[in-house]
Amino acid sequence: MGELKAFLRYKRREVAHRPAEERIRDFAEFDLPLTPDEVRRQAARCMDCGIPFCHGAGCPLKNSIPDLNELVYKDRWQEACAYLHLTNNFPEITGRLCPALCEAACTLSVNDEPVLIRHIEYQIVEHGFAEEWIMPQPSAEKTGKRIAVVGSGPAGLAAAQQLARAGHDVAVFEKDARLGGMLRYGIPDFKLEKRIIDRRIEQMAAEGVKFQTGVNVGEDISARYLHKIFDCICLTMGARQPRDLAVPGRGYENILFALDYLTAQNKLYAAALTNGPGVITAKDKVVVVIGGGDTGSDCIGTARRQGAKKTYQLEILPKPPETRPPDTPWPMWPRIMRTSSSHEEGCERLWGVMTKNFSGHETRVGELHCCQVEWIRMGDNWRIRELPGTDFVIKADIVLLALGFLHVENEGLVKQLGLKLDEQGNVAARNFQSSEPWVFAAGDTVSGASLVASAINSGREAAAAIDQWLTKKGNPPICVAD
Ligand SMILES: Cc1cc2nc3c(=O)[nH]c(=O)nc-3n(C[C@H](O)[C@H](O)[C@H](O)COP(=O)(O)OP(=O)(O)OC[C@H]3O[C@@H](n4cnc5c(N)ncnc54)[C@H](O)[C@@H]3O)c2cc1C
Ligand code: SF4
Repeated sequence: MGELKAFLRYKRREVAHRPAEERIRDFAEFDLPLTPDEVRRQAARCMDCGIPFCHGAGCPLKNSIPDLNELVYKDRWQEACAYLHLTNNFPEITGRLCPALCEAACTLSVNDEPVLIRHIEYQIVEHGFAEEWIMPQPSAEKTGKRIAVVGSGPAGLAAAQQLARAGHDVAVFEKDARLGGMLRYGIPDFKLEKRIIDRRIEQMAAEGVKFQTGVNVGEDISARYLHKIFDCICLTMGARQPRDLAVPGRGYENILFALDYLTAQNKLYAAALTNGPGVITAKDKVVVVIGGGDTGSDCIGTARRQGAKKTYQLEILPKPPETRPPDTPWPMWPRIMRTSSSHEEGCERLWGVMTKNFSGHETRVGELHCCQVEWIRMGDNWRIRELPGTDFVIKADIVLLALGFLHVENEGLVKQLGLKLDEQGNVAARNFQSSEPWVFAAGDTVSGASLVASAINSGREAAAAIDQWLTKKGNPPICVAD
């Protein structure tokens, strides 16, 4: 373990941000990383618990967190970097984006503040890139097996990298113009600058992964063609069917899905679009985001940077408590009030609010008609009840629907392949193999909308299942250190 009883000596130190007034003027990342000495002190706080819940119950990737903390504390950064890559292909992405389920499960968080695990992860990998310890690892031997990965989000990229390193020929097909899935087109630059994705893709290309962008599989090329050319395919197409709000007035042209709005901004920022017709901007507008989650919060941060006059975020659930409630005890992810950096930049948040209908003028929405609601428990279920006399109106120039995603888009390729779906409408899979044995699936396509860490892990596990199926040698999961 690191430093005995260091958790009694050192307090957790949060990562500072560029001031809100400064950062809303650009789309760049805003974390101000800690110094290496401070990171070592933070790593020293790890108690090296007998049962590390951070690793076992928290992290979807099962990162070996206490070992990483010890290596950082002992200034053995290169070993830490190699060790981290044993479980996580893209720690530079989880180190920026993960909600840090590990920290909620850290034993210190029972009665103190948890170890700063996510930032330590970020520091290890950025150290690795700066020192050029993270290099391409092409496989020494080729198996001659060919695999097509459909979709280049974190699940597809992780699966492709694992399979290429195991010696297979891998081609990634992506319908968008550029690679990365939600990382590229959903998540704003201020949370993840896109050069971070490009840096990894360069490594993967040097490892032999072939990328084909602008190819919608199922439309531009058929499933039959893929079956002829490849030994198997892995579907990592995400879960992109958005949940809609079927209330009167939904049809106004300035009521948009959150992902369409965020994608337009990300493309604009990447200069893939010119600032002409079709670009959605919130400049000088009142923006109302319906949906209180992270996607909604990303819309708030984006609207603020575009120069919105005012932003609201509406949530139908009641305001969560400030401290861990009994229904999500340690080491579970607690249902508590969270304030994101985008909220800090300025936003009015309303809870327990239902939108009953929209009204407007000609084609454009002008008002939301809302009311307060309460939630009543009926056995195992909850029922929503409108509170009489609480109706109110919010004026809006743009309404963004950030109500989550239902399941994989199951027209097109999924239908063409005739795959069985689960009750939620995702691709049904057993050990990542779908109802068609040559078709594997991973990431949000199987789990429904989830997190980047879960998608990477799913891609890795699917790669192990594919490798085992192709080579029939009963391999353990593939693990290759950087
Ligand atoms: C706005 C937003 C913010 C988020 N923020 C966070 C966050 O901060 N932290 C976090 O952990 N998670 C976050 N998430 C969730 C996270 O991004 C997803 O869980 C993750 O990206 C899922 O990865 P995936 O590889 O399964 O799918 P995706 O990232 O959705 O990638 C699927 C890819 O498949 C491609 N595709 C689909 N069909 C075809 C086809 N027929 N042919 C070719 N290509 C196809 C798509 O174009 C896409 O590129 C966020 C999600 C959104 C929408
Ligand atoms: S991937 Fe997420 S849960 Fe796992 S160690 Fe990193 S921050 Fe923690």
